[in-house]
Amino acid sequence: MGRAALERVAAYYESLPTRPVLIPTTSAAIRELIDEPLPQAGVDFDTLLDTVDDVIARFTRHSAHPRFFGYISSPGTPVTSLGSMLAAALNVNVTCWRSAPAGTEIERLTINWLKEMLGYPAEAAGLFTSGGSMANFAGLAAARSAKAPANVVREGVAAAGKRMCVYVSDEGHFSIGKAAGMLGIGEANVRYVKTNGRQQIDLADLERMVERDLADGHLPFCVVANAGTTGTGAFDPIGEVADLARRYSLWLHVDASYGGFAALARSVRHLFERIAEADSVALDPHKWLYLPVGSGCVLYRDPAAARAAFSHDAEYTRMIGLEHDEAFAFWDYGPELSRPFRAFDLWLLIKWAGAARLGEAIERNIACARHLERLVQASEDFEMLAPVELSIFCFRYAPRNFAGDLNALNERVLVELQHGGSSYLSNARVGGQFALRGCVLNYRTTERDMEILLEDVRRAAGTCGAR
Ligand SMILES: *Cc1c(COP(=O)(O)O)cnc(C)c1O
Repeated sequence: MGRAALERVAAYYESLPTRPVLIPTTSAAIRELIDEPLPQAGVDFDTLLDTVDDVIARFTRHSAHPRFFGYISSPGTPVTSLGSMLAAALNVNVTCWRSAPAGTEIERLTINWLKEMLGYPAEAAGLFTSGGSMANFAGLAAARSAKAPANVVREGVAAAGKRMCVYVSDEGHFSIGKAAGMLGIGEANVRYVKTNGRQQIDLADLERMVERDLADGHLPFCVVANAGTTGTGAFDPIGEVADLARRYSLWLHVDASYGGFAALARSVRHLFERIAEADSVALDPHKWLYLPVGSGCVLYRDPAAARAAFSHDAEYTRMIGLEHDEAFAFWDYGPELSRPFRAFDLWLLIKWAGAARLGEAIERNIACARHLERLVQASEDFEMLAPVELSIFCFRYAPRNFAGDLNALNERVLVELQHGGSSYLSNARVGGQFALRGCVLNYRTTERDMEILLEDVRRAAGTCGAR
């Protein structure tokens, strides 16, 4: 069974460059191919592998395709495809050291490597989560219990006696608002700060909002800085946000879910200079470390703050007869109990490829985005809508003598491009304008792919009757 499956895996990777990124289909069409009542009898494995090829792989949007630029999607790697198989065979449950002695040590080790990549303090704690949303939730949970004037974990947020307010730029990820809702802080108490022409947080507006909340008797407790926004890749000035956080005694959480691993790329390394001052950081190895979906990470500068938010005792988890290191439990640092062996893929990839090679791949991704920016700026029929900061690019089709509505035109061009199958972009709104948005997050992507992308967009525009 393993050999048969591996042949399909290899064939899949080999077929990638010649596959369309996506085959347009419908929900009903796929259901027609797979729906059946609960199967009572088993079938042979080869039949199932055929269904994988003919239905599941066929109707998958291929994030490993060199011209899939949508959202922020990791391509995955062949070595971690094998890793997932090995980890599933061991079926390690990384709740605590007792349940996973080697798994816990591998998680500690890889978390240390991530700290080293960022230049984050060695004493910091951290753990893998399901993704960046959960890492933001965990960071905000630690912030909430650290800054509330009462034990809100025990008594509930009402015990704080005041509205607790969190600040993030209006380009921040929606998981911040969701986390505030889940934590009882309230989505209405997330203050969205204005951004400047580079989509970075406006520090004067941030300070004004904090002052106003103080004057109104509220409790400002946390500010979130973006280390690469989802829309345009904007990078807030972490050091200046840290200075303001210190002045007002706010917890500083850095959402580096997208941009965090750009710290490995020499050309943008300086942006991370003062990240060590963050109280917590959210990272997503399943974005720019090319890991398969399911790997986020939260780092806490002060491990005690994480324990105050999450530590719990129950008779069925009580550690009996174990010493300090061996009594360690991940459930004291995050919301989950049972946890898959997320560290394994990361360990495997870093050991196999080496951090230098990963850094070079990230640098090449950034170079591809810059190449596209240059091509757009030199063209007669495209324009950039935001500067390229990392590997995200926002532009639009804007032929010289087009007198119609560019937003509507570009929406049509995007749909046409996505149906074409050669290149895939998603969309964003930049300063009220509809943008064709892409993110280079694949080590297979080359500068030539960026040129093909622009040809594909021109062709899509032609089909829309705009050329
Ligand atoms: C993707 C992203 C998130 C959410 O991460 P998930 O892993 O999808 O939950 C949060 N913040 C930023 C900036 C992101 O780009």
